Amino acid sequence: MTAIEYTMFRILRLFRKLPFNILGVGNQKVVFTEFFKGFEKVDAVKGIFGEKTDEVLSHLTVEISWIMGYMYVDGSDGHLVISKGYLNSGNKTDIYLDLIHELCHVKQFMEGKELFDPRYDYVDRPTEIEAYRYCVQEAKRLGLSDERIRCYLWTEWMGEDDFRRLAKSVNVSVA
Ligand SMILES: [Zn+2]
Repeated sequence: MTAIEYTMFRILRLFRKLPFNILGVGNQKVVFTEFFKGFEKVDAVKGIFGEKTDEVLSHLTVEISWIMGYMYVDGSDGHLVISKGYLNSGNKTDIYLDLIHELCHVKQFMEGKELFDPRYDYVDRPTEIEAYRYCVQEAKRLGLSDERIRCYLWTEWMGEDDFRRLAKSVNVSVA
């Protein structure tokens, strides 16, 4: 097993206990640590919250939602909203990196930062750049190639120019 296979294996283990076939009609609210088991031991997560990691994650509400899309932090109370469809069928490495990204926003929210500051475009918003820099750093540590990270960074609603600006801000080469 190569180093990257081993780290991917470890990431997949974090998702092993996910109840992927959640039943129920409405949105479901769960506690982060009960849903994503073992994340409180992940170095990248501890790097965000330090000694408060256990405390923050055990009080963080996750709303499993029928919304389409990926995941975001609710700007009213700082809870995490995740699309059920994304959890069920998304790429596990992408979901892992998204969780690291969103946990950065949880920290920013706790610090009183404005997460959806309309004065900035998405790719220029300081809170986004900070969260992307941190999850890209984790992606590189895991051994993901720049090409793979570019795939991760690109979203269907992002224009070519925006994408290039974001990649540059987080030090990922653009082919
Ligand atoms: Zn973000």
